[in-house]
Amino acid sequence: MHAHDAGQVAGVRCGHCNTRRFYKPAELREVIGNVTIDQVRKKIRCQQCGKREWMSAELFHACGEERQVMRFRRLKEIRWERRVVWVDE
Ligand SMILES: [Zn+2]
Repeated sequence: MHAHDAGQVAGVRCGHCNTRRFYKPAELREVIGNVTIDQVRKKIRCQQCGKREWMSAELFHACGEERQVMRFRRLKEIRWERRVVWVDE
């Protein structure tokens, strides 16, 4: 996903909840890796209903006006949680 060039927006939609969210492609890349928007779609899950199969994702150019009213979902932090797994000998 080489979309860091000016104005690209990643639109992610859940057809089940009928919600649409906008992300900065660079931030998606940080979380998911350098993959195509199609692969992004396969990896994401709706935060509302938890389903994957209704998701769609697209990259598009937003014009200046559009961008000003657009509210992005920004990456706040990436937590690396430590999980401990025990196994008996
Ligand atoms: Zn949903």
